Amino acid sequence: MALIVVLLGAPGAGKGTQAQRLSQARSLPHVSTGDLLRDNVKRGTPLGAQAKGFMDKGEYVPDALVLDMLAARVGEPDCRDGYLLDGFPRTEVQARALDQRLAGPARGSADRVLVVNLEVSDESIIRRAAGRLTCKQCARVFHLENAPPKQAGKCDACEGELYQRSDDAAPVVRERLRVYREKTAPLARFYEQRGLLATIDGEQSPDAVFFRLDGLIPRKAG
Ligand code: AMP
Repeated sequence: MALIVVLLGAPGAGKGTQAQRLSQARSLPHVSTGDLLRDNVKRGTPLGAQAKGFMDKGEYVPDALVLDMLAARVGEPDCRDGYLLDGFPRTEVQARALDQRLAGPARGSADRVLVVNLEVSDESIIRRAAGRLTCKQCARVFHLENAPPKQAGKCDACEGELYQRSDDAAPVVRERLRVYREKTAPLARFYEQRGLLATIDGEQSPDAVFFRLDGLIPRKAG
């Protein structure tokens, strides 16, 4: 049975950090729509060119573009036994598309979905974004104060260059938060009504959050 874990939470709630850890611990591919989009921008693909303007402003990329990109990624062989979604779904249209995909013949009805909401206050989000550093090569996330790299400016994992994402600048973060509250936060209710939602206090340390998260995932995940 394939297990699909969905991480919900505001930008900077810790989805990327937790997804990376969980992906390693449980051998589940980490599928981040933000990473996929940034990779398209970096490679100058037509999708990247279309997405960039939205991302720079802190707005969502149109559903149709994201859905096509995601379908291609989760259709790859490594996702057959399950995967970890980070940054998707972000709108009700996307959530319904995921529902349909899970119900459809492409996946069979045995797939299991677990949605975990990482709850963090707006003040913490703004503080976290200001110190966040991302690896240009492998997308691993560090934080100037809470999780600094061993060597300044270099990724611990691959020695890639660390940078501040342009959409982590304070005015853009405020816009991303506004869009999140309006379009994505209601998805918690959507999944709660389906009995699929678990909530974790994301203000805790990354280790404490991971302990809770890991405990929610069935052992035979994959
Ligand atoms: P993230 O790395 O998840 O914070 O995503 C960075 C940016 O990519 C977002 O602010 C959006 O502009 C875009 N993005 C990522 N995932 C999605 C999605 N599921 N739907 C629409 N836009 C997305």
